[in-house]
Amino acid sequence: MSAPPPFWKTKTLDQMTRDEWESLCDGCGRCCLHKLRFEDTGDLAFTNVACRLLDLSTARCRDYAHRRTRVPDCVNLTPATLREIDWLPPTCGYRVVKEGKDLAWWHPLVSGDPQTVHTAGISVSGRAVSERQAGPLEHHIADWPGRTPRGRGKPAGASRKQKQKEKSP
Ligand code: SF4
Repeated sequence: MSAPPPFWKTKTLDQMTRDEWESLCDGCGRCCLHKLRFEDTGDLAFTNVACRLLDLSTARCRDYAHRRTRVPDCVNLTPATLREIDWLPPTCGYRVVKEGKDLAWWHPLVSGDPQTVHTAGISVSGRAVSERQAGPLEHHIADWPGRTPRGRGKPAGASRKQKQKEKSP
């Protein structure tokens, strides 16, 4: 008998439990990069400048529990906010599921390994600079946070090991 389909294929975002919702985050840290919105066109540009709370090595928030107190403009992702924002990267687990797509092989819920988001080149680990050192955001516009890397296919042997619970930023 085959295994039942995973929750992200059977539930709407509003139907998910808190743990299920949290686990949709792959831990990439891309949403913790500053974005620029151009007033004349409304266009969005990503930068490689990270929120001061982001650990640039692990791509994790260093104070997730208190992030919204310490960084008041940190956005709390909920099904409602997800319907309003347009700046999540195309690789984001929340955006992917909202768009009716399946999670990629490197998502910890699929691979069972929280490291695959790094080995697949999805996370910001090692690629971002802190807002404390960066200087003007305009000097740090980058296109990679808004793209899904190509040429990084699923390595042989990558498979589901165990279900991981991951925090959202
Ligand atoms: S919320 Fe989305 S973009 Fe942000 S870390 Fe999680 S998966 Fe990545």
